[in-house]
Amino acid sequence: MIPLKDTFWQTESWQQQMSGMIREPARLFQRLQLDPNEHPNIAAALQQFPLRVPEAFVSKMAIGDWNDPLLLQVLPLEKETQQHIGYLNDPLEEANANPTPGLIHKYHGRVLLITSPACAVHCRYCFRRNFPYDANNPSQRDWQKSLDYIADRSEISEVILSGGDPLSAPDEYLHKLILKIAAIPHVDTLRIHTRLPLVLPARITPELIKIFTENRLRLVMVIHCNHANEIDKHSEVALANLREAGFTLLNQSVLLKGINDNVDTLVELSRRLFEVNVMPYYLHLLDKVNGAAHFDVNEVQARLLMNGILAKLPGYLVPRLVVEEPNASSKRPLALF
Ligand SMILES: *Cc1c(COP(=O)(O)O)cnc(C)c1O
Ligand code: SF4
Repeated sequence: MIPLKDTFWQTESWQQQMSGMIREPARLFQRLQLDPNEHPNIAAALQQFPLRVPEAFVSKMAIGDWNDPLLLQVLPLEKETQQHIGYLNDPLEEANANPTPGLIHKYHGRVLLITSPACAVHCRYCFRRNFPYDANNPSQRDWQKSLDYIADRSEISEVILSGGDPLSAPDEYLHKLILKIAAIPHVDTLRIHTRLPLVLPARITPELIKIFTENRLRLVMVIHCNHANEIDKHSEVALANLREAGFTLLNQSVLLKGINDNVDTLVELSRRLFEVNVMPYYLHLLDKVNGAAHFDVNEVQARLLMNGILAKLPGYLVPRLVVEEPNASSKRPLALF
């Protein structure tokens, strides 16, 4: 079928939207009519992890509201530079599971490829905010080592394109990589972990969809939506087009203090996801990465929230509460009480 169209707003290509994204706090504050004097001392936080947010995401934020749940995900704060006990630069010890540049193999049967070091948005809570992307920015030739690694292990049936954000890479690059993955006979599923249907929905072009569908692989996309407000009409169309193309659509969220740490917000998120054909998959406890301590919701609070949403939603709309740990054989589901 012909993908649904959403042309009225695409006055700029996704590449233009990406290169024109907001990188200066002053521009963000002006756009949202916020007084910068109310938000001083962020230079050090910016130095650690720069501001990056496309207009397509900013357009879903409320004007004049410092506590907007989307703004809080991207707003640099002075307190990010404070050190906290138990917070690390590489909390998941991914460096231990990194056999070839750009490939992480932690769990049975699936590997993760750091397809692109770039993201279209910088989420302040990101566990990869300190990841050595420079050492994992493989040239086209380096991919061969990772592809050989997969080809040599017949138990690997699923390849996950992650990042950064894999969809920040150009079409041609993705096309070549996906063809090479599809050429490995024991790989049957391609999974994309991306935030772009939410932060830059114009990225989901008919050309991109063609690259995904012109091969034999089963397609799964895990989007990363933390709040119902992230799903506007443009995201809705992008997701409908992906669904139409045969993607199974799942969502993972991070439980974030001040953003989605209450029952009503989580219930609304699940319902909104279902409206756009996305099934809730994981609700992650925050990874304890330096700079993100102020987002932490503790395990006791998380379990109480889960009980609250279990009491309000059909079972299929309840995400699994998980925590990721180094050297575990899967993400660990947290038992409720
Ligand atoms: C989360 C993750 C996966 C995928 O795990 P699922 O439970 O299958 O979603 C694979 N590899 C790594 C390194 C991961 O962090
Ligand atoms: S990897 Fe994901 S969570 Fe981290 S900054 Fe990029 S889009 Fe945000």
